[in-house]
Amino acid sequence: MKTSIATVSISGSLTEKLEAIAGAGYDGIEIFEQDFIAFDGSPRDVGRMVRDHGLEITLFQPFRDFEGLPEPYRSKTFDRAERKFDLMGELGTDTILFCSSCHPKALGGIDRAADDFAELGTRAAARGIKVGYEALAWGTHVNDHRDAWEIVRRADHPNIGLILDSFHTLGRGIDPETIRRIPGDKIFFVQLADAPRIDMDLLYWSRHFRNMPGEGDLDVMAFMQAVMAAGYAGPVSLEIFNDQFRGGSTRGVAEDGYRSLIALMDDVRRAEPGLALDLPEMPARVGVNGVSFVEFASRGADARSLEALLLTLGFEKSGTHLNKAVTLWQQGDVHIVVNEETEGHAATTFNARGTTVCDIGLAVEDANAVTARATSLGIELFSQPIGPGELGIPAIRGLSGSVLHFMDDASGLGDVWDVEFDADAAPAGAGITRIDHLAQTMSYEDMLSWSLFYTALFDMQKSPMVDVFDPDGLVRSQVVESADGALRLTLNGADSHRTLAGRFLSETFGASVQHVALATDDIFATAEALAARGFDPLPMPQNYYDDLAARFDIAPDLLERMQRLNLLYDHDDRGAFFQTYSRAFAGGLFFEILQREPGYTGFGAPNAPFRIAAQKRQRRAKGVPKA
Ligand code: MG
Ligand code: MG
Repeated sequence: MKTSIATVSISGSLTEKLEAIAGAGYDGIEIFEQDFIAFDGSPRDVGRMVRDHGLEITLFQPFRDFEGLPEPYRSKTFDRAERKFDLMGELGTDTILFCSSCHPKALGGIDRAADDFAELGTRAAARGIKVGYEALAWGTHVNDHRDAWEIVRRADHPNIGLILDSFHTLGRGIDPETIRRIPGDKIFFVQLADAPRIDMDLLYWSRHFRNMPGEGDLDVMAFMQAVMAAGYAGPVSLEIFNDQFRGGSTRGVAEDGYRSLIALMDDVRRAEPGLALDLPEMPARVGVNGVSFVEFASRGADARSLEALLLTLGFEKSGTHLNKAVTLWQQGDVHIVVNEETEGHAATTFNARGTTVCDIGLAVEDANAVTARATSLGIELFSQPIGPGELGIPAIRGLSGSVLHFMDDASGLGDVWDVEFDADAAPAGAGITRIDHLAQTMSYEDMLSWSLFYTALFDMQKSPMVDVFDPDGLVRSQVVESADGALRLTLNGADSHRTLAGRFLSETFGASVQHVALATDDIFATAEALAARGFDPLPMPQNYYDDLAARFDIAPDLLERMQRLNLLYDHDDRGAFFQTYSRAFAGGLFFEILQREPGYTGFGAPNAPFRIAAQKRQRRAKGVPKA
């Protein structure tokens, strides 16, 4: 299976694009005529450049407004096609995309179009060129792949075939199962794109909002299963028009695309075991059982104040690392590591960002399967020199400079606390039992990368994106979680530096984990225990509790207790949810303590604007400028 991407999908000059595409691992490119026209060099130079990067030109595109024209337009468009065939010869490619006509003079009629393509096929055959016909979702007379296929079938010429594009089929709501009826050798090329479900004009949606397979809401998987079941054996190519990608990192978007393509084709192989799919073997998505540790990089006075906060949260220092300036803090099943090393990843992170989460440990079903799958998806492995008596725990580099380590039961890696820390038994502390979720902040443009990273690698699903209103702007929030909720991540995309999330990003120079949410089974007991330890919760105003009293049926004494302990509240049809927050520290990090009744699967989203407003009041009270 050849992988390919349209040059239009990523930003940069043609040279930058080719470097990024080759670096990400693709076999070829679809060359967009515009990229070529903007390039200062001959078609032969372009062809040579592409091949010098180890790539091939899988497709030349687009040729518009060909079929159904009356004379004299018809003759002219055939002349135009001949000129493009010349150009293709010089570029060194043999397949061209003709998209269905939007020409105002184009006439309808399947036979008229078929006749045009039959004649074009004869001209193309003389040059050894294959012409693929694509139904644009907004084509004037042809906007459905089933009609395009009927035209190709009637043209009945070996050099005329069909081009399928997942956006045009799925965006119009056409059943992809209809593709299974088409002979695979008459499908000349396949283009893939996903898109978020937005109700808008098809052309505008397509030109601005396409994204990588798995990043949107279309059933690209069903489309691709049908294509492969039809017997298609040609390139699988990304054709993504997206405003963010056009302005994004050339390399990053190319790598995301490759990751999405490989993950998708691996899914297709698993769903259609009868197909002999030419794709390297890789383990399936790996199940995640929770967060095994969160590691902070810190130093000196900063580390002491982090430890003081951990003490008020009910944690105790339960171990010190064999060889390193690293301590372990435990409570229930929660392991927090404070790393004050002056060399290595934690040190580099601290030097760049100050006190911040530098490493996340995940409990997985099979740690080596994660790294094997990560490698197949083009994710870089991470390692540091292993000291005497230390375990080699598999790890990868996450996005934005983060690192993820993986522990499983089978390999004995979970013994690291005994082996490397000689850890004491975990204290019961204030009743905190486990990490409920981690909240990661990124700029809005990077959100798709993050959700793709997690959903391509792990057995996790993403939920729809929701808007969270910060008094100074909008934050987009999306949950990525395992089916049983063992690992829950909330991704928060900041649009503006004035939002709390945006300030955090700028003050920590792009750190990701902004809050760690700790679960308890009895938040009232835990909050009382924390208060006894001197924990200083984020104060919530009287108005918040007045509003709670109006919105929910809460007994007055319970409400009074909640207010005294600064607990926030939410309820859905399955259960109640309580939460409270620490004060912010180290550039905007904070802890959340929560209790979810069985069945409540949310994150207290209705409370987020009030929490953010309270945090901003604290910032101002501390004399931090508003923006
Ligand atoms: Mg297309
Ligand atoms: Mg939270």
